[in-house]
Order: sequence, then structure tokens, then C-alpha cells
Amino acid sequence: MPDWSEQEPGVYSRRYAELDLTVGLVVGSERCLVIDTRGSRGQGEELAAAVREVTSAPPVIVLTHAHFDHSFGAAAFGDRPIWAHTGCRGALAEHAETDRREWMDRYRAEGRHALADDLAATPIAAPTRTFDRAARLDLGGRTVELVHPGPGHTDHDVIAVAGDVVFAGDLVEHAPGGSFTEESFGPDTHLAAWPAALDQVLGHRPRVVVPGHGEPVDAAFVARARADLHALADLRTGVRAGTLTVTAAVDAAPLPPEVCRAALS
Ligand SMILES: [Zn+2]
Repeated sequence: MPDWSEQEPGVYSRRYAELDLTVGLVVGSERCLVIDTRGSRGQGEELAAAVREVTSAPPVIVLTHAHFDHSFGAAAFGDRPIWAHTGCRGALAEHAETDRREWMDRYRAEGRHALADDLAATPIAAPTRTFDRAARLDLGGRTVELVHPGPGHTDHDVIAVAGDVVFAGDLVEHAPGGSFTEESFGPDTHLAAWPAALDQVLGHRPRVVVPGHGEPVDAAFVARARADLHALADLRTGVRAGTLTVTAAVDAAPLPPEVCRAALS
């Protein structure tokens, strides 16, 4: 059973075994902020119960982006406010059902039928409070800044800044032994813009950065991830210009071959 890790007083992260997803919680005197919600209604209900173990303050949700493993659990929080970038609402409307089918197939192929059934029964909870650039949430005695740092992992990523702890969603990942995975790079990824988004994360001078997957990291880790993404973007430019073969780019890349291929495609 995972547990909350207190990153500073009232600011928590929690890592789940399923997809190694990491969520956040910031507790104020009047409200608490739940950062990402896990990937189904059942998983969201577990998370909501875990939040209630920490605080009785009513929750407000923020979605770092629309990908199902971060957003589908919002259904478990009833009619509580759901903050997100404006683009998150459109991305959910466009891609949620495709995501659902793809992952149901994947779970059934793995024999995980209860999880597939849970996903099938999960209503998609659309964001109710959206913004384009930034928003400031007053939780009572504590404010959290929500910022869209420009396109990166998606075109609608949001980071949540709570003091010197930054929740970065999938703009930062901490996979075992490295940073990004194949799943980090999808058809909705903006590789060329991603390093600038991480500059914005670093601009908040974080002591702790909580990634969308894996253990919290420090600013130096994010700086290395930024350098890796910058290198990948350069390699992709070479491949697209015809001055570099994919094989040569994969050989030169700072990330494992399968991750590099996902980033280049
Ligand atoms: Zn994602």
C-alpha cells in the first residue's frame, strides 16, 4: 500500500504501483488541492479516501493534462471543481474514448479484467474551471499557482507551484534508471517546445519537483532532462532534414533506443 510523502508541511506526493503514477496533495485551511486523479473511477475513489485520511478540507482538483492515467479518476470526486488548461477539455472530448478503448484492450490482454471493467464504467469528468496561461488558487492560508508553461508533453500541460515544490505532471518523468519512457512521447507531444517548458519549471527555483510518474526529483534532474530533450529535438531536426539517419540519431541519443525512436517518430 503506498503512502503520502510530505515534501514540505501540508504538501504531499503519493506514488501508486499502477503505471507508477504519482499524484499530489496540497492542504489549506479551507480546501485541499488534489493534483491528478489516477486512471479510473475505482482508482480515483481510492485516492479520494487517501485524501480524507490526511484532511477533511473539501478537495479541488487540478489535471496536469488529459491523459487517462491522470484524468479519469476525477469522476470519483463528484461535483468538486476541476481545474485544467482550456486545451484539456478539448483533448478529453477528442481522445478520452480512444484512450479508454486502447487501455481496456491492453488490460484485457494482460488478464486484468476488473481493471478493464472499472475503466469501462468510468464517466469522463470534464474540467469545470479552465485557464490559458495561469491561475492562482487560494486554499485558505496557502495559495497554489497553476501555470501553463507552453506546449511540451502535450499542448495543454499544467504545473502546480506550491512554495518550492513544483508538481510537473508528465513534463517530468522519473522512470527507473532514467527519465522518460516510450509513453512520454505521443502524437500530441511538442518535442521542440518541451525544453522551454522545463525552463519555466526551473524558473520557479524548485527544491522538489514531483513528476507524473516515479519518485520526486530535484532541479538538477530536471536540468538533465531538459538537456536530453534538447538533444533529441536537435537529432529529430537532423533526421527530418535528411542529414542524419534514424539509426545514427538513435546511436547518438542520450536516452535508450526505444525511447529515442518514440521521440523521433
Ligand atoms: Zn501523459
